[in-house]
Amino acid sequence: MNSKDSLKRNPKVVVVGAGIAGVGAAGKLLEQGFTDVQIIEASSQPGGRIRSSQFGKSLVAEGAQYVHGASMKNPIYQLVKEHDLLQQVYNNSDTEWSVLTNTQKQLDPNFTEEMGKVASGILKRAHLLAQEKGYTQAKSLADVYLEEVKMFLAQCSGDHVDLRRQKLGLLSMSMKWQCIHLATNGLADVSLREYEEYKNIDGGDRNAPELFPSLLQKLLEVVPKEKLLLEKPAKQIQWNRSFESEDGSLYPVRVLCEDGDQILADHVIVTISLGCLKANNQSLFEPSLPEHRLQAIQNMGFGTMNKIYLEYETPFWDENIDIIGLVWEDETPLSGQKPNLVEWWRRVPVVYVFKPTERYGHVLVGTISGKEAEFVESLSPEEVATNFTTLFRQFTGRPSVPGPKSVFVTKWFSNPYTRGSYSHISINSTADMIDMLAEPLPEAIEGTSPMLQVLFAGEATHRSYHSTTHGALLSGWREAERLINHYSIK
Ligand SMILES: Cc1cc2nc3c(=O)[nH]c(=O)nc-3n(C[C@H](O)[C@H](O)[C@H](O)COP(=O)(O)OP(=O)(O)OC[C@H]3O[C@@H](n4cnc5c(N)ncnc54)[C@H](O)[C@@H]3O)c2cc1C
Repeated sequence: MNSKDSLKRNPKVVVVGAGIAGVGAAGKLLEQGFTDVQIIEASSQPGGRIRSSQFGKSLVAEGAQYVHGASMKNPIYQLVKEHDLLQQVYNNSDTEWSVLTNTQKQLDPNFTEEMGKVASGILKRAHLLAQEKGYTQAKSLADVYLEEVKMFLAQCSGDHVDLRRQKLGLLSMSMKWQCIHLATNGLADVSLREYEEYKNIDGGDRNAPELFPSLLQKLLEVVPKEKLLLEKPAKQIQWNRSFESEDGSLYPVRVLCEDGDQILADHVIVTISLGCLKANNQSLFEPSLPEHRLQAIQNMGFGTMNKIYLEYETPFWDENIDIIGLVWEDETPLSGQKPNLVEWWRRVPVVYVFKPTERYGHVLVGTISGKEAEFVESLSPEEVATNFTTLFRQFTGRPSVPGPKSVFVTKWFSNPYTRGSYSHISINSTADMIDMLAEPLPEAIEGTSPMLQVLFAGEATHRSYHSTTHGALLSGWREAERLINHYSIK
């Protein structure tokens, strides 16, 4: 190893977390000649937010399921091609919708398509406004959304009251759907000024329910088995010290594990979720993180999005349909998004038909975000089944709609090793805070070479692609590259 650094031995790197960021970082280091790399993972399996579970006839994605940007600009898509996994990525360009209302109407597809364009036009204008900058005060995405909704409604003042209700219901559905993409309680939580920081990758979204675990296995091929320790939660990362090992070598960092083990290291790459950082930042680092970082971690946005899988003996829906939209004609986006735990199911704007049917059987999956997504984790499968059966009977007008034979609800909020689903740029934060979180510790002092004791990766540390698998993977590679450059062993 041709080291720029004055270290006399092979640097010892500990990676905390075996999600796609941690496995990606460890793999790159091992490929580039680092030999002393150890991943410690709290759960009993690697993958983190890309894990799958057995449900019905097959494995279903608890977390990531879509490739956001099916083009070679996306590192996930590059890996898909490289590992010949394209057969696991479906082309969902011709999605068939069936939009139902709580008053048992099936809305005309041309009308719903038109309203879909209105809703996405509103968001596009929010993007444009965000680019204009010049705000003197913090504005949220909701501020602009609601202004635009009012302008749209003013143009429709001649509408019959029923049509107006349907339009408002459709816009509400679309707003709830946006909240799911952002894992938020409401658009009022999201900073308009910073909304443009998230970048879409060309190629559209592709459904890939089983891709991510396969991809993880490919990434793990370069990680020898003994370098991944499972059920090994880190309790505390002690840094900026000098710890002596049994052979007399000195290390600046020590990782204390929940089971009492202590692992010494030259560098630790922390990839745990922003939710866990928020919950544990007082005790996780010793010395504590600098105050401005603690503030940033508290202010950055991290919310919950859950999936609700429902398996049926026989379908009650038309099998050509891909998505069932649920429109409440008594809702309006103008009243804001207050949590409603009593009728939590109102926060499920759409239900996907899980396809291909030959593989998965008759399975529907609903998505939900916000406080209601947290609340649904506390319900029994029987309660969820009953609530959905009532909902579907109401919307179809058919009392014969059967109950599901099994139900599975993901629990990202109560999972102690995620504490939520993914990040967004909240009204209280800025994209610069993301960059701050990604800065290694100790923080760089001008004119001195960085020590890179504690490095940070994970989806919430990627300025442009936070909340995604590609953002997480790129952040892991970024921190690996940082160490590779540090030791000049490219
Ligand atoms: C419901 C849901 C749907 C999603 N859908 C998509 C999608 O369709 N497309 C997409 O691109 N992205 C999607 N995402 C986001 C994507 O899954 C994540 O951005 C990405 O997987 C995060 O990877 P990561 O390595 O940063 O974090 P994680 O996957 O959270 O990995 C961190 C690891 O650290 C471990 N850990 C935590 N604490 C400790 C500790 N103290 N000691 C040791 N280990 C610890 C955790 O167990 C975990 O394995 C979705 C996420 C969710 C939750």
